[in-house]
Amino acid sequence: MKEIILVKVGEIVLKGLNRRTFEDVLIKNIKRKLISLGRFSIRASQSTIYVTPEEDSFDIDEAVNRVSKVFGIVALTRACVCEKSIESIQKAAVEYLADELLFASTFKVESKRSDKAFPLKSPEISALTGGYILEHYPKLTVDVHNPEVTVNVEVRDYAAYVHGTPIKGAGGIPVGTGGKAAILISGGIDSPVAAYMMAKRGIELTAVHFASPPYTSPRAEKKVVELLEAVAQYSGRLNMYTVPFTEIQEQIRDKCPEELFTIIMRRFMMIISERLAVKNECGALITGESLGQVASQTIGAIACTDEVASMPVFRPLIGMDKTEIIDIARKIGTLEISIQPYEDCCTVFTPKHPRTRPVAKYVRMAQDELDTETLVENAVNGVKLTKIGYGK
Ligand code: ATP
Ligand code: MG
Repeated sequence: MKEIILVKVGEIVLKGLNRRTFEDVLIKNIKRKLISLGRFSIRASQSTIYVTPEEDSFDIDEAVNRVSKVFGIVALTRACVCEKSIESIQKAAVEYLADELLFASTFKVESKRSDKAFPLKSPEISALTGGYILEHYPKLTVDVHNPEVTVNVEVRDYAAYVHGTPIKGAGGIPVGTGGKAAILISGGIDSPVAAYMMAKRGIELTAVHFASPPYTSPRAEKKVVELLEAVAQYSGRLNMYTVPFTEIQEQIRDKCPEELFTIIMRRFMMIISERLAVKNECGALITGESLGQVASQTIGAIACTDEVASMPVFRPLIGMDKTEIIDIARKIGTLEISIQPYEDCCTVFTPKHPRTRPVAKYVRMAQDELDTETLVENAVNGVKLTKIGYGK
């Protein structure tokens, strides 16, 4: 029995004239994900993308797993391909879904006929296929409202397809259709989730990580690489820039009032990230901040940080509770990595009493004690590039 993967295209069908571009990007993203699994072909027709293995060694289970993490897809399923005749459809249903039908007590058949030249109408296809299934599995009964197994039959342009219940796709819109943005990534729980959420809206990511050796260890940086590898399963490959931040943090510690350490440090993060963003053709910055979570995430503190950025700063978690963020982190596989205990540069030289309502004028005055331009230039010139793939 020949098997393929049927992929139902999501929100992109709403995009009118852009639909072709969106579909092309989606196909490219799927291809990239599957290329290492062996030979296959791919085509789109009527809001469905068909992925057809072209060699026996193609690992279809792994392909389904990978495609389930590609944005722009509402649902996907493995399906059995058969000839466009009712006899082949009946036979395929009984054989292909044998495992499920054998252990179920109720089922129904749902049919769709997009090839109007096919001589039977959808209800007739369902009735004939259902009857044939009942002959082969006499213990089964039909339940159209709440069946344990739904047998789906689709009669389309080149063939008919039989499959069980599709699984949910990752939703969103294809990465690469929404432009590029730079995610400020720490080893914490929040920023990887923020990265995932913006990739879901079609944004291609570049990552910026600030490291302060020897206060932060190489292991802390490796943790960030692992986090990004998990994010890359959804966002696709990306570049990570590690910024040397020690000199800046030491100077802030030596020359600025303690209660402003964090806010000034965050302003430096913004300035440097924006420089790197421009170099990498990014149009926005992304952070993992959530309002009120810590002292640097109040309206006043955020206003003070954003003052130094001219690009839009996206904060997809701004209105979310920690528990909601954790649920997503668990789902995308970053939580396990984030909770490993390695220090972040944010926890180096943290003030005992950080200002929750910093006054911009005083923050500027404090920062004027430092040679911002030289410090920023040194940091930008000292970045290290790491290419992030899909990990394991
Ligand atoms: P996270 O869990 O993402 O670390 P957080 O709630 O711990 O967030 P902070 O540590 O104050 O909050 O950081 C707020 C945001 O600043 C982070 O979400 C991230 O976008 C950015 N950030 C913090 N530390 C770093 C770092 N070392 N490198 C790059 N960005 C950072
Ligand atoms: Mg943090």
